[in-house]
Amino acid sequence: VTSQPPFKRIALIGLGLIGSSLARGIQQLGLAEVLVATDASAEVRARAVEIKLADVVADDNASAVADADLVIACVPVGVSGVVAESIGPHLKPGAIVSDVGSVKASVLSAMAAHLPDNVHFIPAHPVAGTENSGPDSGFAELFINRWCILTPPDGADAAAVEQLTAFWAALGANVEIMNAGHHDLVLAVTSHLPHLIAYTIVGTADELEDVTRSEVLKFSAGGFRDFTRIAASDPTMWRDVFLANRDAVLEMLGAFQEDLSKLTRAMRRGDGEALFEHFTRTRAIRRGIVSIGQDEAAADFGRKHAALTKKAE
Ligand code: NAP
Repeated sequence: VTSQPPFKRIALIGLGLIGSSLARGIQQLGLAEVLVATDASAEVRARAVEIKLADVVADDNASAVADADLVIACVPVGVSGVVAESIGPHLKPGAIVSDVGSVKASVLSAMAAHLPDNVHFIPAHPVAGTENSGPDSGFAELFINRWCILTPPDGADAAAVEQLTAFWAALGANVEIMNAGHHDLVLAVTSHLPHLIAYTIVGTADELEDVTRSEVLKFSAGGFRDFTRIAASDPTMWRDVFLANRDAVLEMLGAFQEDLSKLTRAMRRGDGEALFEHFTRTRAIRRGIVSIGQDEAAADFGRKHAALTKKAE
């Protein structure tokens, strides 16, 4: 029995890490009869043709969305309003319009302002990624066992929400529905603040004078290395995230600074008990993440280690 693809025509706008991962997943799973894709960059469009990321690579956003049943903007959050403006008049009535942006409240208002009333606008955020960007960095398995958070506005069409939920579930994601403002608070602490801290620490280490750059690189496995992976994330994407989710990140940063002060005080006073109690609590959080399958239990983040071999005498 051959089943019909769930969507006749899907259009992807932006073919970076997330867009090209979606393109690969949609093609591998046959989620669209026709997959159309486009990108602002001519170079990316040419590469998409070369590596066959879609059935049709359109020259611009307007022509890409014509007659599409599902349109997903996979662009930095700072341009989501501009993208909505470019596609608004060309959308098919009844189409589902979505995105993948890491911030939801500002994207929701920026895009909704340019979309006609006869489409279903349901913002989404797949909580999955790597530090790489561009059309070659994507892979179909990126969303497997990761969360995808949908933030439908009040009064959103239930059938459209269900269709989008089924789409993400087909790609392997676990779908959760949330209010956009709440999403931004949750992600401020679980993703945005850790990125800000990583960007800070890597910058600080780079500027130290009495520890040389070669020593920082040489001894990076002491913890620094994991921050460098996060701090290698796309500068455009993260500039936009911090501007778009400024209020929630600043609120979390306030709480973080208070906690940092508590640890600083404990160290200054030689209060080992306070430090030990804090580190015990955080270790339990790590174990909780492993127990719900959100990371490898293996030591050192599951990295492969070379086999121990005896050096020739
Ligand atoms: P990316 O690899 O940098 O790709 C974004 C692509 O969008 C680029 O090819 C860019 O072209 C294109 N673009 C920019 N403006 C455009 C426009 N006006 N019209 C059409 N295309 C345009 O970024 P990404 O990592 O896939 O991120 C995309 C979105 O996913 C962001 O909103 C981000 O917040 C979200 N997200 C990212 C991750 C992650 O870990 N990376 C995880 C979850 C969600 P140019 O190169 O020419 O600018």
